[in-house]
Amino acid sequence: QTPSRFNITDTVQIKNIYRPRKPFSHKGTFGHALLIAGSEGKIGAAVLSAKACLRAGVGLLSCHIPKCGYEIMQISAPGAMCFIDDQKDHSSSFHNHIPNAAAAAKYKTIGIGPGLGTAAGTCWAFEKLLDHYQQPMVIDADALNILGGSPALLDKVPAGSILTPHPKEFERLFGKTANDMERLQVLSDHAVKRHLHILLKGRYTAMAFPDGSIWFNTTGNPGMATGGSGDVLTGILTSLLAQGYPPEEAMLMGVWLHGRSGDHAAAECSEEAMIAEDIVEFLGKSFLQLR
Ligand code: AMP
Ligand code: MG
Repeated sequence: QTPSRFNITDTVQIKNIYRPRKPFSHKGTFGHALLIAGSEGKIGAAVLSAKACLRAGVGLLSCHIPKCGYEIMQISAPGAMCFIDDQKDHSSSFHNHIPNAAAAAKYKTIGIGPGLGTAAGTCWAFEKLLDHYQQPMVIDADALNILGGSPALLDKVPAGSILTPHPKEFERLFGKTANDMERLQVLSDHAVKRHLHILLKGRYTAMAFPDGSIWFNTTGNPGMATGGSGDVLTGILTSLLAQGYPPEEAMLMGVWLHGRSGDHAAAECSEEAMIAEDIVEFLGKSFLQLR
């Protein structure tokens, strides 16, 4: 069966999804997100994700990072709370901090993957997390690579979750495909079969829904082909889920915002000179366009 519908997102549609804040709202209104990210040499990915998550409007953000990233994160993203692992990976404080379903459930959503690494302890911790977290979460980067190596783990991903592979991660997850059309078919089939939202990143990011439809995003530019770009997207999506946007709306709006902010960054400082931080900096301008 071919994907039932192909669609293209536009600004009008995203404006309809966007919910302005009510005057008497407080930080509890906008959710508490947990970001599990970073490893030695890749703490930057966790920082970019955390900054984007905060900038996209989350109420509270906690970050789970290895010990080597503590000062870096606290200085770079003072709005985020941190709990650190005494190991180089994500195994030990996972044990202490989210040992069971009740402890995990206090987070409205979880974003996992940027710079995570694939150490054995981290794989173990991710499996434990999937055993006791049932709400839609955002899964990216090394967390996708871990899933790609274990079909049993992929089956445990909570329904409604958003997976954000780039083409290489997509191949590791779902295998090789002969051409773009076949790839879209595989994308849609897995979204339907697993009740997931899966977005395949690229010039026109393809977003597959559990109902079999596929939406294409048109914002963004080649300036976004720079390290850390995808980590920013993970932060934005995690933030929107935490704020209570349903996953389908979070995906459409988050991908649009990410690309639009990249377009503002390119307009301001060129596709060449823009870096992932600039996408975060211009999120505000993109939100203003939705009012
Ligand atoms: P990652 O490879 O995980 O860092 O993700 C890269 C991000 O930048 C994705 O959201 C892509 O859609 C976006 N991106 C990369 N190259 C382009 C491009 N040529 N046009 C538009 N978006 C792009
Ligand atoms: Mg990435």
